[in-house]
Amino acid sequence: MEVCFWGVRGSIPAPPTTADLQKKLLRVLELASGKDISSNESRLALLNSLPERDTTFLGGNTPCVELRVGNKILIFDMGTGLRELGDHLIKTGKTQRDLELHVFISHTHWDHMQGFPFFVPAYRPNVTVHFYFAHPQFKERLESQQDYRFFPVSLEFMASKKVYHHLEVNSIITIDDIIVKTTELNHPGKSFSFRVEHGGKSFVYASDGEYNNLPNSKIAGYINFFREADFLVFDAPYSFSEEMEKINWGHSSALVGIDLSAKAKIKTIALFHHAPENDDSAVFNLLETAINYRKQNYPNANLNILLAREGLEIRI
Ligand SMILES: [Zn+2]
Ligand SMILES: [Zn+2]
Repeated sequence: MEVCFWGVRGSIPAPPTTADLQKKLLRVLELASGKDISSNESRLALLNSLPERDTTFLGGNTPCVELRVGNKILIFDMGTGLRELGDHLIKTGKTQRDLELHVFISHTHWDHMQGFPFFVPAYRPNVTVHFYFAHPQFKERLESQQDYRFFPVSLEFMASKKVYHHLEVNSIITIDDIIVKTTELNHPGKSFSFRVEHGGKSFVYASDGEYNNLPNSKIAGYINFFREADFLVFDAPYSFSEEMEKINWGHSSALVGIDLSAKAKIKTIALFHHAPENDDSAVFNLLETAINYRKQNYPNANLNILLAREGLEIRI
């Protein structure tokens, strides 16, 4: 399977600013001093040799993660990143034939839903969108997002075929030979996590979840759900101190993610749902703290930690 990130910010879109760009440019110019920048090739080679934090943007779109499993496309959440995924599907000719998309909805907070009206494939009659959700009123919420008072085009007007699959909590479903398990996360109004298993590989999407003040049995349940996953997408907008201040806000930190991942023997954790108020360098600082925390507390854990970033594609 292959994971591709289309939106990684939480809460509200947070596009990079000119000040953010200038900060990166200044650092690149500093690092380039004395280096060969005489040709395009040498400049490109130099850029590719510099740390990712200086040469990329994490991106400003809200959550949307694509998982390609065999010839199936699974999509986790419909934040504003969904618009770009839709444009990509069109540009790469995927919508020229009949196309089935499998969209899993963690919950219906704006940052996880707002991309759908701008998802162009959903306007094509040869596209089928399968929605998988655990909130019983999902369809009603999706329709009301496109009520004429909020958006000019109604859900009904979108010509794709829409199929609604209500998931029971702790259920297991299959899409051909793909297995998907669902569990509930601790988040205001509830959020749901999904675990995908296929061909001996496993992927977990766990956005918008808090793990403070939960009984040990609940934590053990999450560790079990995450167990030995090859790849975990984990809601980690907070530093440790923010996490202590924002009890019951329904989010978590990289440090909690590392505790859970080490116990569950996860191979890779992708820190996700970056806070809109944190610029890229603040998010990279959280990553550094997380890496040091793992080294100190779990020196023998074989756990890779990375930042989810728009456009990042990883084969699992
Ligand atoms: Zn969110
Ligand atoms: Zn939320």
